[in-house]
Amino acid sequence: MKRFIMLTLFPEIVPGPLGVGVVGRAIERGRLSVEAIDIRDFTTDKHRTVDDTPYGGGGGMVMKPEPLSKAIAAAREAAPPNSPVILMSPQGEPFTQKIAEELSEAPGLIAVCGRYEGFDERIRQHHIDREISLGDYVVSGGELPAMSMFDAVARLIPEVLGNPESIQEESFQQTLLEYPQYTRPAKFEEHDVPSVLMSGNHAKIRQWRLKQSLERTLDRRPELLQKRPLTKEESKLLKEIKRERKENKTT
Ligand code: SAH
Repeated sequence: MKRFIMLTLFPEIVPGPLGVGVVGRAIERGRLSVEAIDIRDFTTDKHRTVDDTPYGGGGGMVMKPEPLSKAIAAAREAAPPNSPVILMSPQGEPFTQKIAEELSEAPGLIAVCGRYEGFDERIRQHHIDREISLGDYVVSGGELPAMSMFDAVARLIPEVLGNPESIQEESFQQTLLEYPQYTRPAKFEEHDVPSVLMSGNHAKIRQWRLKQSLERTLDRRPELLQKRPLTKEESKLLKEIKRERKENKTT
């Protein structure tokens, strides 16, 4: 069983959105556990203080190092050996599907969630294994980023997603965006489902989907195409797309 541990000032948040859907079912079936450790439990003063004013002045509060280091030590004890301690931080490496795949190899994950202005720098320097950002924006606490990260990792655990094929084809797994999906009805508000999808010709459907994936990636995230070698078929389809576009422009 994989163990995800969240270090937080708000343990009541867990499991939250991870308690439903495919990930929720994986928890129920005992393939995964998501637990919270309350950082405040590791304070020693009467007021259970977790934050203090910053040295050098300036606004906001900073999370004190002692309760955090103790909470991290307790989490390392509780988690399976070699579970990385990850600091959630907008200054970390940008989270990607590739990192999710790497993390899915670990027996457990420990996510340290900040609040206020963040952590005393010495925690970052001496007590964590990795620092991850969910994107170039700032949210008010590390809990939502940690949950997104946990979710992305959980669904890579075999048997969490019902259908392993759907992982294969998903956006980013192969660094192409996913092709458009349709379901019934065949006509919705006067808009038809592309006829190839109803043709029953699996080879044609596969090729149409690949071409759509390439086209989408070209339009929305062209940098993803540079990051990845193209197969012969993909290069051929990409040329076709570019040729078609030229023709459309000139006609
Ligand atoms: N002053 C800090 C931000 C503090 S936000 C700074 O500029 O770096 C409070 C907490 O929210 C952070 O400690 C972190 O745990 C979490 N957080 C905010 N934005 C995040 C992001 N993009 N990715 C991951 N965690 C984030």
